[in-house]
Amino acid sequence: MYEKIKILDCLLAIIYQESVSIAIKTHKKALVRQMFSVDLKKMFTQNFYFFTSTKLALPMKKIIWVACMLASLSTSAQKKKSVSTPLENDKQAIISNLDHRFDEYAGISKQIWNFAELGYLEEKSSVLLQEQLKKEGFTVETGIAGIPTAFVATYGTGKPVVGILGEYDALPGLAQEATPELKPIAGQRGGHGCGHNLFGTASVAAAVEVKNWLQKTGKSGTVKIFGCPAEEGGSGKVYMVREGYFNDVDVVLHWHPSSANAADASTSLANINAKFRFKGIAAHAAASPERGRSALDGVEAMNYMVNMMREHIPQDTRIHYVITKGGEAPNVVPAYAEVYYYARHKDRAILQSIWKRIENAAQGAAQGTGTKVEWEVLGGVYNLLPNVTLAKVVHANLSKVGGVVYNETEKQFAEKIADTFGEQKQPVTNAAQIKNWQDASENATSGGSTDVGDVSWVVPTVGLGTATWVPGTSAHSWQSTATSGMSIGQKGMIVAAKTLATTALDLYSDPSIIEQARVEWQNKRGANFSYEALLGNRKPALDYRK
Ligand SMILES: [Zn+2]
Repeated sequence: MYEKIKILDCLLAIIYQESVSIAIKTHKKALVRQMFSVDLKKMFTQNFYFFTSTKLALPMKKIIWVACMLASLSTSAQKKKSVSTPLENDKQAIISNLDHRFDEYAGISKQIWNFAELGYLEEKSSVLLQEQLKKEGFTVETGIAGIPTAFVATYGTGKPVVGILGEYDALPGLAQEATPELKPIAGQRGGHGCGHNLFGTASVAAAVEVKNWLQKTGKSGTVKIFGCPAEEGGSGKVYMVREGYFNDVDVVLHWHPSSANAADASTSLANINAKFRFKGIAAHAAASPERGRSALDGVEAMNYMVNMMREHIPQDTRIHYVITKGGEAPNVVPAYAEVYYYARHKDRAILQSIWKRIENAAQGAAQGTGTKVEWEVLGGVYNLLPNVTLAKVVHANLSKVGGVVYNETEKQFAEKIADTFGEQKQPVTNAAQIKNWQDASENATSGGSTDVGDVSWVVPTVGLGTATWVPGTSAHSWQSTATSGMSIGQKGMIVAAKTLATTALDLYSDPSIIEQARVEWQNKRGANFSYEALLGNRKPALDYRK
């Protein structure tokens, strides 16, 4: 008998230890939760019977009871973990499907990266995305809002209508190889320094997953993907907004390549930009300078006045310019000169008053230098109207999807890039992190501007950023161009596609999200809001990059 009890003792000790380690290691949270749940009572009653009816010694009984309880907790926690809703299963299926299609989408994004077409000239990039959508069963309408490279592709019927934005224009002067060191591509005008090759591709990938899900479930709902050209200074979306292309859309989703994974309710800067063109009189710069009037003097006088103005405007204003034409030769008084200005502020009214002063400076400069000036507003975009309701849904999905995890080759590539940042260097493993919701603020402003701003004022809109670039990278740099053309960028792109698609599933499945988002949007927009484009009634500036 003594022997038997000894053996039983050992067995129970093993069971006890195993149960404790299983419960603690793998189901810590579930264990704690269950300690306070009704399951505990049930377990106690079940185990109590055994506990009182046997004739073992008291310490043994204790061990048995604890072992049984922990074993029950462990299995019960396991059961709980495996319970998932049909919606969660569908989301998981989308996530693994996008993993399966990684190479396909990476290839499309790489083609657009190679095309590197500038604003309104994105013919090949636009067609490539359209072909992909047609192949997947979308109806494609192209050349919308007077822009040959703009399109909208639709699938499904009825409400809700979820729109997804896609961009694909490159930036001038950023042609760079996909290498971890500075290596410009000779003879190429543009480069994807803002990663719009990834932007357009991920949005198409997400729309395709949403379409497949609508098809499979037979749910009511429409998905529209908007092919949006010339985001970089061309304000492509503004014309689409002006023409009413978003009028029947309930929620718009977008994303942007970034050096971090974040979904928050931050805003962006409203922006007005224009080319100021000065006309003077040409003359021999040495023999008869008194006969000439220098258009370049007009530009310089304007710049001087604007630079003095900087002290007397709100500090969070941004003004920048480049002289795009400054004359041909020093011995000819320039008859023509041109300066390209951007002004930005998060408050549109403040921006408009500053813009008026910039225009006054141009006129004053012309008067003082005996030249004439005209200007053409090429772009104008609203500040983003953030939506907390929607941003929380995106954040939850992004957190489930997870960040970008590098393999060994990518890690080495990333380390080399990070070494070029000096004091801005961050651990490259930050690419795997998701920024906490608490880190985001409704009043936070990214330094940039986007024509998504205009969309957000006519339909509730939400977006996210993913780590397509090495942590610490600045947009519009050779480093951002390089990673946008290789697997680091492509991995970030798939994170975005997964998050957009799973967020869309939430919108189709729970109508209360859209209702709540709409109420928030209406309150923020104000009752008397009516949309008026900052660039006025002008036609798309299709040749601004020619
Ligand atoms: Zn961009």
